[in-house]
Amino acid sequence: MNASPHVQHLNPNAIALCALGRWIASRHWVPATGGNFSIRNAEQSMLITASGKDKGELSPQDLLPVSWQQQQIQCTQGTPSAEAALHAMLYQLDPQIKVVLHTHSVQATVFSRLIEQEQYFFTGYEMQKAISGCSSHQQVLPLAVFDNTQQIPELAEALKQRWQVKPLNYGLLVRGHGLYVWGHSLEQAKRHLEGWEFLIHCELERFSITGKP
Ligand SMILES: [Zn+2]
Repeated sequence: MNASPHVQHLNPNAIALCALGRWIASRHWVPATGGNFSIRNAEQSMLITASGKDKGELSPQDLLPVSWQQQQIQCTQGTPSAEAALHAMLYQLDPQIKVVLHTHSVQATVFSRLIEQEQYFFTGYEMQKAISGCSSHQQVLPLAVFDNTQQIPELAEALKQRWQVKPLNYGLLVRGHGLYVWGHSLEQAKRHLEGWEFLIHCELERFSITGKP
């Protein structure tokens, strides 16, 4: 693939993703170079943040082209985020996904450790409607939770198995680690990120008052 840093500098997708990434960093959702973001570049390729970059200073040169074929990912320049395989799996599970965002917010990290089940059911919140497909506070909106691992291909496989039973609701938690969201456009992915972070924050506040998850 021809995707030199110079080309990426002019790529409107790359420029837009970097602007969104800097906004996410300003919310303190990706501290200490944590988290990673990607945007689909073609049917089987994406631009993804390089490993170890401060997301508050993201520029298009910090995005690396990564392509995939099933479980195999390929990158011809630099070191992509260690979690690139999970991004690639999401793009394969839903060809409409355009953007994947992964954050390490305090609230998502703490919340994920309080949930022992494989999913948590949100209900009663107007803001559930920020998540595509949810049209009422009366609906029950599940958020999947996976155990953390340093073996990202194993996590990607676990995601695939659950997705094949039922597609996830534009978000998932990795226990003690953080939140993944995605969308069919940059705007939709941003809305899903804000929506899930808001809902998680509300439930944490509620737990702190009621004393129970
Ligand atoms: Zn992470």
